[in-house]
Amino acid sequence: MVIILNPNTKFISIRWKLVSTYLLLIIVTLLLINSFITEAIRMNYVDEKKMNLLTQANIIADRVMAYKYEADELDHLIKKYSKEIKSRILIADKTGMVMSDSYEFLKNSRLKHIELQEALKGKSIAKEYLLKDYGKTMYVAVPIIVNNSVYGVVFISSSLTDVYKNVQQIKKNYFLLSLLCIGITGFISFIFAHVIATPIEKLTDRITKMSKGSLEQKVEIAGNDELANLGKSFNVMSAKLAQVDKQRKEFVANVSHELRTPLSAIKLLSESLLHQEKANIDTYRDFLGDIDTEVDRLNKIIENLLRLVELDKEKFKLDYQITYVNYLIKKLITTLKPLADKKDIDLQFIQSEKIQMKLDQIKMQQALTNIIYNAIKYTPEYGKIQVSLYTESNEIVIKIEDNGIGIPEESLPYIFDRFYRVDKARARSTGGTGLGLALSKQIVELHQGKVEVASQLNRGTVFFIRLPNNLEIR
Ligand code: ADP
Repeated sequence: MVIILNPNTKFISIRWKLVSTYLLLIIVTLLLINSFITEAIRMNYVDEKKMNLLTQANIIADRVMAYKYEADELDHLIKKYSKEIKSRILIADKTGMVMSDSYEFLKNSRLKHIELQEALKGKSIAKEYLLKDYGKTMYVAVPIIVNNSVYGVVFISSSLTDVYKNVQQIKKNYFLLSLLCIGITGFISFIFAHVIATPIEKLTDRITKMSKGSLEQKVEIAGNDELANLGKSFNVMSAKLAQVDKQRKEFVANVSHELRTPLSAIKLLSESLLHQEKANIDTYRDFLGDIDTEVDRLNKIIENLLRLVELDKEKFKLDYQITYVNYLIKKLITTLKPLADKKDIDLQFIQSEKIQMKLDQIKMQQALTNIIYNAIKYTPEYGKIQVSLYTESNEIVIKIEDNGIGIPEESLPYIFDRFYRVDKARARSTGGTGLGLALSKQIVELHQGKVEVASQLNRGTVFFIRLPNNLEIR
């Protein structure tokens, strides 16, 4: 399945989601702060003004109360204060009749304001109004008390325009500051989103390329955060996938090649037989014998391949049994001895101690047979093979040493690869499939062990099978 990711989805991309989320957050925050702060400032200003006006009204009330003024003197005093506090001041008597008005219009008329009524009851009061012609205005009324009884009222009407102008100015400044904050946040969040989205976009691009078949993809790693770790894991994964794919292709090519060789031989042999009109029975026997050998070879390859496939299965489970390793090896040596004897090879088993452990006997027998059989195959006549069993620093070691033809140094890293043979031509004559060591290694690794090899050309080869002692039961 090929997943094609659309690169033109910018407006729903993570980049835009991050930027818009940050912007939304900052805008909502600023709006909330704005409404709280400006309201608090407005209340503060209005309260200050109220306190101020009440104080002034009380001072005026004290003055009016202290000196009994003539009407003219009172007007003069009121006008002076009115100028000072930039407000209209009215003095009313206890009936609400205006005795003095700094603006004069209401002199000798009766005031009916609630504030005045309240003040006449002895209370000081201040209230804010929105007047049609004057805008926001504050009314303040304070009683003039003489000998514990209300003599009159000082009434102040003061415009709040200045107060609201100030609040408005603060709101304007705040708005400009908010715009700056939104701009800075937008810029920072864009850079942040870019830093987050770019590696994701690059990764997506590489994954798209991978899904189209080019498996070897790499992303550059910057920094050491979660995204860098994701990139590192991706690089490891793609390298592994590419390697597995390469191995798979090589394997398929090798299998085809290995199967084709005996098939071609069979085809050639049977065709030559068919075309020989007067072939005698011996020739037939000869050719059929060769065909039989090639069929055996085909069978062996397929058998080994099936074994490998079985071991490759993820859910493959070893059938562990408590085993005397000495006994297992002894049995093997007995089986293989006739083959060694054919070449007058001295095949010995050296056992320094009795070792018992949990093994999958059939599988381990397979692994050991392949290695010992190889030793016999690749050791010339009158050679010597020594199989030793011992424990070494918590490991159980099975050592198979021969003084045979050896393996060239440059071939050593590949001898456990499937179908690898040092000398392909010679391998055919020895009947090798190139799968034996791969099988042995796989089996030992399934037992949590490892296989090591050391060799010198024309001097001999030594294989070490190292198995963990934790399987051992003493
Ligand atoms: P084969 O079936 O060809 O023996 P293996 O996988 O068992 O395949 O071995 C891979 C190759 O390693 C062999 O073809 C051979 O060249 C080399 N080899 C393995 N064991 C020995 C040994 N004891 N001495 C020399 N060469 C060896």
